[in-house]
Amino acid sequence: MLSFKKSRANIATQEFAQLLPHEWAEAKRILPKQFTAKAGKLDYSYSPYLIEIVNNFAANSKITSTSILKGSQVGATQLVIETILGYTIDIAPTSILYLSESKIVAETDVSTRIDNMLYTTGIYDKIRPSAQFKHGKKTGNTKSVKEFAGGIIYAKGANEKPIAINAQILIFDELDKAKKHKFGDMVSLWKKRLSVYGKSKKELYSSTPQGDTGNRIYKEFLKGDQRYWFCECPSCKNEFSFSWSGNITKENGLIPDGVHNFKYTKNEQGAVIPESIGYACRNCGYLIKEEERYNVLLTGKWIATTTAKFRNSRSYYVPQFMSNFVSWEDICNEFIEAQNDRDRLKVFVNEVCAQVWEDRINQIDTKTTQLINAKSYAPLTIPNKLANDLGHGNIVMLTAGIDINKGSSGDETQGWAAITICGWTADNSCFVLAKGHIYGTIYNYGNVWKSLDEIINLDFYDENGVKYYINCVGVDSGYNPDKNVEAGKDGSVFDFVNKNNNARAIKGEDKISKKSLRFATGQTSEGLPLYLLDTTRYKTSLFNNLLISENADETQPPEFVNFPKAQEIGGLEYLNLNKKYKVAIKGNGFDESYYKTFNSEEPIFNKDKTEIILYKKINTRAPTHDLDALIYATAAKEFYASEILSVIKEKTYNLNLVLKYLEKFLAENGYSF
Ligand SMILES: [Zn+2]
Repeated sequence: MLSFKKSRANIATQEFAQLLPHEWAEAKRILPKQFTAKAGKLDYSYSPYLIEIVNNFAANSKITSTSILKGSQVGATQLVIETILGYTIDIAPTSILYLSESKIVAETDVSTRIDNMLYTTGIYDKIRPSAQFKHGKKTGNTKSVKEFAGGIIYAKGANEKPIAINAQILIFDELDKAKKHKFGDMVSLWKKRLSVYGKSKKELYSSTPQGDTGNRIYKEFLKGDQRYWFCECPSCKNEFSFSWSGNITKENGLIPDGVHNFKYTKNEQGAVIPESIGYACRNCGYLIKEEERYNVLLTGKWIATTTAKFRNSRSYYVPQFMSNFVSWEDICNEFIEAQNDRDRLKVFVNEVCAQVWEDRINQIDTKTTQLINAKSYAPLTIPNKLANDLGHGNIVMLTAGIDINKGSSGDETQGWAAITICGWTADNSCFVLAKGHIYGTIYNYGNVWKSLDEIINLDFYDENGVKYYINCVGVDSGYNPDKNVEAGKDGSVFDFVNKNNNARAIKGEDKISKKSLRFATGQTSEGLPLYLLDTTRYKTSLFNNLLISENADETQPPEFVNFPKAQEIGGLEYLNLNKKYKVAIKGNGFDESYYKTFNSEEPIFNKDKTEIILYKKINTRAPTHDLDALIYATAAKEFYASEILSVIKEKTYNLNLVLKYLEKFLAENGYSF
């Protein structure tokens, strides 16, 4: 690095031929104020990680494909793309195909940013002026074409029809922003324009992940050798690479573990206290301060974490917090503000973390996140002290979900029920309070139902003696023992619902409804109330909530889902149901096999990859019953909220209003509404 700086002062023109692209840029380029946070002579020491990337485009480089999975504002446009263009025009002329999301953006890039770069480096006179040809077509220097001695730049919108040209260098800027191409896969279509150059072709794909157009940049990153910038911890000298959460290792790349690496404390208004921000070393715990970032980044080097699919393909991960041009204070505040706003959080994940949002849905790692994050509260208790310590306030509502199943023994009278009980706080966070499977007789209102009657009518008390009961229970009617239309029997599910005034019969629908509510109220053929659930939407939001990370100060954002640490106890064991009703209690404990239920299904997207249309079972060894029971308990919260709203005469559905109302009621009365 430093030697380049020394050498650039008086480089004679003839020496330029030996220069690497970044050396050429440091010697020649001046950044004008209107285009950069740091105007003046271009200096790669602020973005040392971009040096190797831009040098992949040196005339004698063997690298044929380079992709950058990047956050916004990391300097890729100026320090990589503009340098490649200037270096190619000035030092190693050849043909370049420059693509951006649309024709207008590509032409604007060329006519403003690139023209400016050409002027400030003094090489504008290398561009051939436009001339009128006899058939009236302009050539030489136009908005979409720039010709120079030995080369040409074509500026194209990625979604334009590919033209029959040959180019040695392809620059595809903001790959994920380009709308779908009606002529086929955009990357493979444009790539063909380089085929005559064989091994001497050079491709650049650079983008912030967007996800809405098929995760193109992420796919390109996966095809490459997945390089991460490993720096030295100033305290213990251990090598690490920056990531928002999770741990980057040289062997496996980014391993998500739900642990945040940025630490900070908040002021009374909830904003970050700037002096408190630091990046925690995983090895020694040292907090790297923003003032140290410049020097720490200079210790870095790119390390490939896998073998590329194709030879000479490199891919790079450049998140925004590595950019010296963006303050960590702004980033941490942006994260805090995004906590209550799913859309903003998606932007944060894409633009700051340079990570794909959609893929998060399938990243629930049962062996790490939930097990590690499980909290020390006993099943069947109301952990209000813990809920307050975590920043949620008190639990204000209890619900349960029940999934009824046939027995597998072949005995028609046998069967079982999966039940999950949840406590909900005023900020809509969940504490799973108990779960279990009850095996016995499910026909003729057998002992499984009698056990369920007892469970859903239990009283609960918190540490201060505040009394709770289960406000609402969702029971799946998909399998309904004793249903006999001819004999006028509605089945056991409806017997149970009629007997228990907190129970509601439900039926799952695997369809996306366009309504604002995720459930609809309907009726059975006998006129009994039946709640219809859009299970797809419930699952998507549960899976997203399971991926919420704890705050750096060890509190939790709203909508967090907590599980007890008990790996062998589910809670139902305390009730002696086996002695009283001769049922068998199984499926105990919140252990590894329990968390597999959240990996049992995968999302199926619509054609455009913009919307999940249903979930398909993928893991036959991971039963879905506990997942279903948790979904029904979540839905029961919403039925109950809609019922309360009608009691307090509120016409529009507003869950937060109900939760606040219940919080107030509990505080004033000492028992639940
Ligand atoms: Zn350290």
